[in-house]
Amino acid sequence: MAVATAVGLRCRECGKEYEDSPINVCELDFAPLEVVYDYDLVKRELTRNSIAKRQFNMWRYKELLPEQDPISGFNTGGTPLYHAKKLGQRLGGFKNLYVKFDGVCVPSLSFKDRVVAVSIARAARFGFRTVGCASTGNLANAVAAQAAQAGLKSIILIPKSLELAKVINTQIYGAKVVKIDGHYDDVNRLCAEIANDAKIGIVNVNLRAYYAEGSKTMGFEILEQLGWRAPDNIVTCMAGGSLINKLSKSIKEFEMLGLLEKSSKTRFWGAQATGCNPITAAIKAGIDVIKPIKEPNTIARSIAIGNPADGYFASRLCLDSGGGGDDVTDDEIRDGMKLLAETEGLFTETAGGVTLATFAKLIKQGKFDPDATTVLCITGQGLKTIDALMDPGVLPEAPVIKPTLGAFRDLKLS
Ligand SMILES: *Cc1c(COP(=O)(O)O)cnc(C)c1O
Ligand SMILES: [Zn+2]
Repeated sequence: MAVATAVGLRCRECGKEYEDSPINVCELDFAPLEVVYDYDLVKRELTRNSIAKRQFNMWRYKELLPEQDPISGFNTGGTPLYHAKKLGQRLGGFKNLYVKFDGVCVPSLSFKDRVVAVSIARAARFGFRTVGCASTGNLANAVAAQAAQAGLKSIILIPKSLELAKVINTQIYGAKVVKIDGHYDDVNRLCAEIANDAKIGIVNVNLRAYYAEGSKTMGFEILEQLGWRAPDNIVTCMAGGSLINKLSKSIKEFEMLGLLEKSSKTRFWGAQATGCNPITAAIKAGIDVIKPIKEPNTIARSIAIGNPADGYFASRLCLDSGGGGDDVTDDEIRDGMKLLAETEGLFTETAGGVTLATFAKLIKQGKFDPDATTVLCITGQGLKTIDALMDPGVLPEAPVIKPTLGAFRDLKLS
């Protein structure tokens, strides 16, 4: 029988506490709310032993989630952490480089399945029969797939310029998709109005506090997969800036519960596309004031959020942890995608290309010790963004030949 360990919500600014409810900002200062846990209770239930007895998916850490009984995303998480030896070699003697690959997270092939699994369970508990989201693509896929699993209706709002694969990967589950003539931030604003008006559980608006907690499981898995140790560096791409904060929270919680070998000083490094870099622009300037980007323009559409909800916290985290951040061009993103595929046999979407290309750029700036343990968070699947690789010259044109040995020999391939 599950023991409820989450006991309500608390404002991240003023500390005002709220009962569990579908609200996401404090009524006093409009600051974001966060789930509160009874950590004494968590400590009793969640030990290395109890974890080891459970299946390897995100629910093995359920006491650190606001929902413990999934109604979708039953096998979400539990993704591989690869020791990326060849990639590390290519980048210049990085022997302790790891890749956390959520491109195979089920059901919808991105880390967004983690946040959606938590928020759908919570939506149903609050009595919502319809769930929705404002999405740059992956969240749309995850909400549509998991709403189908949970037997809920879904309404998905996306910017009209989204990749075809991400639209089809949403509609196939029976979701109602609405394309908005605008950027993600316009979609998000509209969703906030809808959440106030209609009886819809919008996972990243009125359920955001619960939703965001799901991201921690990516961190918990990394810590366990490294042998209950925190890495020296974590590099991840950022959209709204939630994931990077929750990775940090995952380390703090495991530390507090005594689950880690020794105390850790992980540095956090944020990555964005130069065409939409509100958070890394701040980090590079050494400040935490986020200046929104009005017209995002990048092939990394899944992380193109011009006005990031958690941008302030993300920039503070990178600066305060002794890490940093940078951003990369579309060509560098494509090179990052190719490099990961050619060295590790892993095909990531553009967002993962951002993470790897930014890491490579920061290495050139002398920011990393090659002996340090570094984890790259690769958050999505390459098959969803093949559009980005279809421009001429990105990949070689495959020759067409007659089915004869002579014609094959003429190619002089070997
Ligand atoms: C949404 C998303 C992110 C980042 O999410 P935030 O928590 O909003 O920073 C990273 N990678 C991919 C592929 C995503 O879809
Ligand atoms: Zn407050």
